[in-house]
Amino acid sequence: MTVMDADRAVAAPADVGASIAISNVTVVYGAGGTEPVTALKNINLQVKDGEFVSLIGPSGCGKSTLLKVVSDLMRPTGGQVTIAGASPSQMRKAGRLGLVFQQANLMPWLTIRRNIGLLKSLVKGHGGKVSTTGASAEELLDVVGLTGFGDKFPHQLSGGMQQRAALARALALDPAVLLMDEPFAALDEITRDRMAFELMRVWQQYRKTVLFVTHSLGEAVLLSDRVVLMSPRPGRIHRVFEIDLPRPRTPETRLTEGFSKLVLELNRELYEVMS
Ligand code: ADP
Ligand code: MG
Repeated sequence: MTVMDADRAVAAPADVGASIAISNVTVVYGAGGTEPVTALKNINLQVKDGEFVSLIGPSGCGKSTLLKVVSDLMRPTGGQVTIAGASPSQMRKAGRLGLVFQQANLMPWLTIRRNIGLLKSLVKGHGGKVSTTGASAEELLDVVGLTGFGDKFPHQLSGGMQQRAALARALALDPAVLLMDEPFAALDEITRDRMAFELMRVWQQYRKTVLFVTHSLGEAVLLSDRVVLMSPRPGRIHRVFEIDLPRPRTPETRLTEGFSKLVLELNRELYEVMS
């Protein structure tokens, strides 16, 4: 399949109801070079509207690559992705993709309020349409627990608070999906734990579809409706775990037998794919 085909693609009937449809996606880095790396091979995954799905697996199994393909940061070598029936590129240009990475990447010379509003003004500045249903910067500050910090600058905030601001910035365009690549990896353990619950609260409120990369098994089980375990060389989906723990999930959820069983099972399979 060529890049053009992927751009023109519409959702196949089987994709109806899927917020994100990943079909036969293959990514080869350095194709044509001496030592091409097949980062992803024939990935198929459907993420339902409002679903929270985590990607987990050993380093190098292609988690970030898959997120890059979905977020239009790169084109796959083969296969296609549709988001709400449109191509990632169409969705990105329409400002419908919310991205959060390990680093908050806030603009140091702008206040937190202006950082949150930045993408909106960028999309408008490029003549794009901006969703009017999105929350205001003030509401978003409240939602992510930064009430009263709108006039501060990034360096005046802790790492956890900067990540909250990055989440608010991603939500500002009222995205169809939130794509998060190890968003809490740079935070200390306690902050990270708090952020997981904050994210769940925001997710319950907005019901965004979330594709979330983490290397923490506990975090994946706690947050997700499904956990996708990937295996490396080449990156493939090894197994998909349904996380049928009741919601809302609380710190006590982690003390339940159901939770421990899932983490243990995931751990066992992870060792299998690494051996
Ligand atoms: P993960 O996020 O699961 O750690 P990545 O998606 O970053 O995995 O990488 C998957 C594989 O692709 C790895 O073998 C990595 O070395 C390779 N890779 C990633 N980015 C590039 C690139 N820009 N050029 C060449 N190889 C790459
Ligand atoms: Mg990665």
